Amino acid sequence: STMPPLLSAIANAGRHGVLVKSAVVMERLGQVDAVALDKTGTLTEGTPHVTDLRPLPGGALTEDELLALAASAEHPSEHPLARAVVAAARERGLPLADEAEDFTSTPGQGVTATVAGHTVRVGAPARLLDDAADPAHQKAVRELEDAGRTAVAVLRDGTPVGVLGVADRLRPDAAATVAALTRLTGRVPVLLTGDNERAARHLAAEVGITEVRAGLLPQDKVAAVKEWEAQGRRVLVVGDGVNDAPALAAAHSGIVMGKAGSDLALETADAVVVRDELATVPAVVQLSRTARRLVI
Ligand code: ADP
Ligand code: MG
Repeated sequence: STMPPLLSAIANAGRHGVLVKSAVVMERLGQVDAVALDKTGTLTEGTPHVTDLRPLPGGALTEDELLALAASAEHPSEHPLARAVVAAARERGLPLADEAEDFTSTPGQGVTATVAGHTVRVGAPARLLDDAADPAHQKAVRELEDAGRTAVAVLRDGTPVGVLGVADRLRPDAAATVAALTRLTGRVPVLLTGDNERAARHLAAEVGITEVRAGLLPQDKVAAVKEWEAQGRRVLVVGDGVNDAPALAAAHSGIVMGKAGSDLALETADAVVVRDELATVPAVVQLSRTARRLVI
């Protein structure tokens, strides 16, 4: 065809199921020499399931009461963990509070809401209370994380009342994608996640990733990207969540997993994976490389 190579590459990427936003972006994707991958929703399918319900002595709740309380607070959230909690409550036919009042969501951390007059917080154990707070709580968290689960803490009026275990499946093409990106860039991709270190290492080992940065807030993901770019790397960030948006914006290039991607991440990224396949990411980097050779 007579189409300029970068425009042909965009059309080609479209056939692979990736929407690349401009020719400039298409060209830059071929320059990347380092990749940072988000965990939940990016390396994993992002449809986690509740696997464990651990009420704590401090709350004296049944498993069903714990789940109903957490789901009532999580109901307005779009986070994959929140959807898992709400789905589990629905599966058990549990009644959710009509409306969670005063709902607030903190990316990379969790949610807070008023449920039946109580302040309920649901989210990352490390963010919601300090380590020494409650030995029973710490023990439950540790056991779940050692088993590769994401532990979700539930607090009522500041008291830990239970821990939920949540597990997510790796995408089927995750290991092949890590291998392809390693070949293309000459570096093994790094895992950046807001989740806990143990769950993150468990999963990284399964896909051949050795460098893991866990427990990160959105601004920590940005700091990691800036650190590598200060060393001269051109970093491609691949993410899905609102928590990834600042890193997607800061990086040399950013690709968002579109199917369950947050609106902010979709707006911020340079390219959107529309067909829900992670393996399209290295394919698009390769398309850019080929087009650049034809341009130069
Ligand atoms: P990732 O970087 O792996 O995509 P996030 O940054 O979205 O993960 O979330 C980091 C951690 O924050 C989660 O592992 C979880 O512990 C906690 N978290 C965030 N939002 C929620 C929520 N709505 N419900 C429960 N936990 C949450
Ligand atoms: Mg994510």
